[in-house]
Amino acid sequence: MSVKLQPVRGTHDILPEESRKRRLIENMLAMVCTTYGYGEISTPVFEFSEVFLRTLGDTSDVVTKETYTFEDRGGESITLRPEFTAAVVRAFISNGLQEKLPFKVYYNGPAFRYERPQKGRLRQFHQFGAELLGEPDPIGDIELIGMAVHGLVVLGLAEHVKLELNSLGDSESRKAYRDALVAYFTQHQASLSEESRARLERNPLRILDSKDEGDRALLAGAPLMHDHFTENAKAYFKKVMAGLDAIDIQYEINPRIVRGLDYYSHTVFEFTTDKLGAQGTVLAGGRYDGLVKMMGGHDIAGVGFAAGIERLLALMEAVQVEGLNRDVKPLAVMPIDEAQEMAALRMAQELRVAGFVIELLTHGNMGKKMKRADKLGAVAVLMLGENEVAQGKVMVKHMSDGSQHEVEYAQLQEHLLTIKV
Ligand code: ATP
Ligand code: MG
Repeated sequence: MSVKLQPVRGTHDILPEESRKRRLIENMLAMVCTTYGYGEISTPVFEFSEVFLRTLGDTSDVVTKETYTFEDRGGESITLRPEFTAAVVRAFISNGLQEKLPFKVYYNGPAFRYERPQKGRLRQFHQFGAELLGEPDPIGDIELIGMAVHGLVVLGLAEHVKLELNSLGDSESRKAYRDALVAYFTQHQASLSEESRARLERNPLRILDSKDEGDRALLAGAPLMHDHFTENAKAYFKKVMAGLDAIDIQYEINPRIVRGLDYYSHTVFEFTTDKLGAQGTVLAGGRYDGLVKMMGGHDIAGVGFAAGIERLLALMEAVQVEGLNRDVKPLAVMPIDEAQEMAALRMAQELRVAGFVIELLTHGNMGKKMKRADKLGAVAVLMLGENEVAQGKVMVKHMSDGSQHEVEYAQLQEHLLTIKV
């Protein structure tokens, strides 16, 4: 019996070459977050469905069409995480951490959405993100956006993205705005897409996010959120902007940014690029002050962001970030005959323990081994023949200039450190 050998649509295997690059991205971002006092959190890949279904909102795309939800053998409804924020907040509450504020964590791992697979849109993708709980002041938004920018700088992407910023105001502003939107779109109901007509009743704000051309044309004349802000919402947004100015972060106000999920308030932002086609948002986030309470915790403010690792990597490749393709070049160790195999093995082991990257080549004649060393990009070839082993020496060939050096085994490591690549 044979099994289906292709991976499920929208998923892919991450092979060593890609893993190396992803590890680079993840390590650099983790390092940046550490600088801001964030620690790492890992939550389970699945949760009780209500963790996501109740928080993301009944009308969000994620909940209506994208979750992987199933009943487990015990009859529980389980959902693979489509995002991390709700899971992190669940963990924050269930681990009794609400008295220890602020709570600052970053995370990194797979997320799952049943979407139509296309370039930059996968069914299993990976997010790196951060959450800050317990800082209701705009200072939290500013520091968090500063951290995101810092991460993008370290990845070499800062000049290739733009920060688009918006505010959704507080709940009072949103209610007033909602009413204004409903009035406007009800007037133009006939021209709305079917999807947006459904949104009109359930969550009119989402129409602003519509990708339908007809809807977008209507949006030009739609009322603006900012005209419905309370004094509090205005002051909040003003301080966020002043803070970003203070740390020299450039942004564009984009009133169309509403984010897909229900739990956002005040600040929302996206870092976008025009170099990845339609899937141009590499990092996105916002403030979600009502979420902890909505999930049964205290009234604790939150703000966070998530970046798609695949999109960050695709952008780094598209703009050819320096250093991304740099791999550690090995040294090749080769016995000339089978008789020197054990000696070569021993040398390879000792050098690896000392921190050198070694490829041990034992198959084929010398010509074949040399070709293989070349292919591996070896910096030098360390040859062991009968004479070398008898005399405690190694023949070292530098690949850059072809020069050969007979080196005492005791001096070998010192010699290797002087080789020019
Ligand atoms: P989009 O508008 O592209 O659907 P979103 O608003 O659904 O994005 P978020 O929930 O904010 O995305 O997720 C944060 C980031 O995770 C996105 O900016 C993107 O980089 C990445 N991301 C989201 N969904 C996918 C996916 N299906 N495949 C790959 N990356 C994704
Ligand atoms: Mg989406």
